[in-house]
Amino acid sequence: MHETTGKKKQAALPGRRSLLKYGAAGLATAVFPKALLAQAEANPRPLGNSLQLISSSGVNLLVHTRGDGLILVDSGPASAIDKLYDTLESLQAGPVRTVFNTHWHADQVGGNEVFGRDGARIIAHQKTHQRLSTDYYIPHEQRYQRAMPKAAWPTEFFHDRGEINAGNESIDYGWLVQPHTDGDIYVHFRDANVLAVGDALSPERDPELDWYGGGWLGGRVDSQKQLLAMTNADTVIVPAYGPVMSQADLMAELELTQELYNRLLDLIREGCSAGCMLNEGALDGLGRTWGNPEKFLYDAYKGLWAHHYNLAPNIL
Ligand SMILES: [Zn+2]
Repeated sequence: MHETTGKKKQAALPGRRSLLKYGAAGLATAVFPKALLAQAEANPRPLGNSLQLISSSGVNLLVHTRGDGLILVDSGPASAIDKLYDTLESLQAGPVRTVFNTHWHADQVGGNEVFGRDGARIIAHQKTHQRLSTDYYIPHEQRYQRAMPKAAWPTEFFHDRGEINAGNESIDYGWLVQPHTDGDIYVHFRDANVLAVGDALSPERDPELDWYGGGWLGGRVDSQKQLLAMTNADTVIVPAYGPVMSQADLMAELELTQELYNRLLDLIREGCSAGCMLNEGALDGLGRTWGNPEKFLYDAYKGLWAHHYNLAPNIL
């Protein structure tokens, strides 16, 4: 999939000179629509077909309540586990039997140990299993992240995809090709038409590319295309943070991501550093406010170099 992305970029490059024009006129269609911006404050919030959206200290979790116990998509930050337990109990639908982790970051796996000790199975990508069961280094924090206790480790892990059923709901899950980390997955409640995507989409915050953990911009383009193919106009998309999204919101974010990829690839070919990209106006005219443009471009730059073999033969 990376190769495909790279080839498309080669054909669609805007050219460095044209980049300078983006500030004034570029990408008018990529302004972020938030079709579902006006959302209820209820927590948990019903999404239909026995699904509820829970905000756990600002992290979006999904819970499915019909079947043999609860199915939880992401277990939230460890600091919020007591409150999450109370919220789940208030649903009066039984204990948590299954936990999915959309990836291995702390905000998605902090409750794993508690639910694991209670006997829940934990389903995640094999890279998530590796990260949770092994010490690893976080360069920008200059420290090692220690392995989690064994009860927190995924009990079922996979490389490609899988499917389970709960009540009348068919639940598909599968690997996304490195939009944020190397262990990102989607969880698709097909009958409810609700799609959990973790940090593969970012409707409000700066897109986060954990380049040291495998995430990169080309993977983000491919993953968002992969997600788009699973949706229709009625699909409710749940990102890790921010408001739930529609298919139109996903298409707008994909357009933004693709444009960013095109621009940054063009600039990196010319030997531009992350600071140079900012000065060249790489983030201008995209209809989006950046919280930390320097960090985003640094991470994007490092990720592009980490995947240089997917880009083009003239980048070595
Ligand atoms: Zn994350």
